[in-house]
Amino acid sequence: MKAMVLTKTASFPEDKSPLESVELPVPVPQEKEILVKVSVCGVCHTELDEIEGRTPPSKYPVIPGHQIVGYVENSGKNANRFKTGDRVGIAWIHSACGKCKYCLNGMENLCSEFKATGRDADGGYAEYTTVSEEYAYKIPDIFSDAEAAPLLCAGAIGFRSLRLTNLKDGENLGLTGFGASAHLVLKMVKHQYPLAKIFVFSRTGAEQAFAKELGAVWAGNADETTPEKLHAIIDTTPVWSPVKEALKNLEPGGRLVINAIRKEQSDKDALLTLDYSRDLWMEKEIKSVANITRRDVEEFLRMAAEIVIRPEVQEYRLEEANTALLELKERKIRGAKVLRIEGSR
Ligand SMILES: [Zn+2]
Ligand SMILES: [Zn+2]
Repeated sequence: MKAMVLTKTASFPEDKSPLESVELPVPVPQEKEILVKVSVCGVCHTELDEIEGRTPPSKYPVIPGHQIVGYVENSGKNANRFKTGDRVGIAWIHSACGKCKYCLNGMENLCSEFKATGRDADGGYAEYTTVSEEYAYKIPDIFSDAEAAPLLCAGAIGFRSLRLTNLKDGENLGLTGFGASAHLVLKMVKHQYPLAKIFVFSRTGAEQAFAKELGAVWAGNADETTPEKLHAIIDTTPVWSPVKEALKNLEPGGRLVINAIRKEQSDKDALLTLDYSRDLWMEKEIKSVANITRRDVEEFLRMAAEIVIRPEVQEYRLEEANTALLELKERKIRGAKVLRIEGSR
């Protein structure tokens, strides 16, 4: 099968092709696993964190990609949850131990043995992949393969972030950064909390305009002061200054949720300019979002189908994975990027 693999960490944009196109044997599904013929795979900022070593793979070579939509090709021993031809999705959570206190309490995202698709196990930048049947999801019929892929990470993690804000209808929500996840959060908020006002911080005019097109009441640069205080802010940027800048816009008791697996070091100095009374005082909170649970993915897919969240997608061929990643790095973003695997339906 054709696959794009990462064999070592690299830096963008100096190395323009960190992923190599290779020919590999089709994997064989083990006990309780399914073999999936990949149709599309979403491209996520986390792939940049893997490539650049901020959350390095635990094995090399590794096939990245954790927003996979495909069709069951066959099943391993004792795997009978799906039939051949069923459409399934695979997300960031590839497995967890199932026995620790976190796993037993619905917090498998915090399990110390959490394994991530496309980092600790081969993912979807390939024609085929395998996964335990317990970690695959049925995709609602109303979505095309390409529409469903970004829902599996950008959408599901956005859903988790939004839940962690404790937002109520009528309250103000800020979104710092306006990539794949944030634009889906905006669509979720419009439906779940129709009276909530959304304020979007982004450094590009194109993203600000896109945010307004989708219903944001205000869009501006990360360092601007919003006309109203915000109950919560979700940060999806890879850097620090927007975090520091966002805090001044929170109302007393407000919460900033950081949805980023790692932060880049480039502007860490921004944190030294934190002003306690302006940025933290009055019980402001900062919380990170870590990974994802199966429940998040399932609940979000159900909700996305109910309210018909259709992500804006931009398609690339599997061989163009490096280009898609480079454009993501350079923040040439409008909606979500997906790779269409050739020969797929
Ligand atoms: Zn992701
Ligand atoms: Zn566990």
